[in-house]
Amino acid sequence: MAAKILIVEDEAAIQELIIYTLQQAGYETVSAENAEKTMSIINNALPDLILLDWMLPGMNGIEFARILRRSERTRLVPIIMLTARTQETDKVAGLEIGADDYITKPFSPRELVARINAVLRRLVPEASDEVVEIDELRLDPVNHRVTAGNKEIELGPTEYRLLHFMMTHTERVYSRSQLLDRVWGDHVFVEERTVDVHIRRLRKALQLAGRDDWIQTVRGSGYRFSAVAVLQTKEPNTQI
Ligand code: CA
Repeated sequence: MAAKILIVEDEAAIQELIIYTLQQAGYETVSAENAEKTMSIINNALPDLILLDWMLPGMNGIEFARILRRSERTRLVPIIMLTARTQETDKVAGLEIGADDYITKPFSPRELVARINAVLRRLVPEASDEVVEIDELRLDPVNHRVTAGNKEIELGPTEYRLLHFMMTHTERVYSRSQLLDRVWGDHVFVEERTVDVHIRRLRKALQLAGRDDWIQTVRGSGYRFSAVAVLQTKEPNTQI
């Protein structure tokens, strides 16, 4: 799945160059030239990362980043600030309000892509194209293949996304509603029990690899992907 990058930049030539660069790098892009259009895009669907110009008509990018950080809906979306300013104090101001990185214009396409990749890898690993390997389980986002040892595991698209998310967020418990937000996307109104259905399918597929203990149910809380249990026993899980 290509990560979706929202480009907020009012200078048309720069916006076009960024769109071209990111599309060449395999990203999906959406763009806006002012705060109002940006909010309407965000209200429609959250991007995986926002590239935000420091100087926008009618609003300073720093102010806008602050608003995005305060809103429950957007507070976790990574933000990279774009700026023509080179002063260290500006950089500090940008990072203080919660921007995740800062790029000074003019920048090379290569630098831009490298910075975006680094932030995504750190903050949204499920949107990165990096192969994930845990024990003998291997997930390759480029060709959507999941293998365990030399066995190929066939997964539906939802089970695939669920597994990708869980393999990149191991050892943490996620509630059903958190999984719905992160895997199904926000603004998707499905019942929480849908999560259980897909977890069950995913476990069943993973059993083909001879393992049923990667995905654990945490009673009253949700689900967790853990590689730890694997180290404790190679025996089938017989606990009730
Ligand atoms: Ca500008």
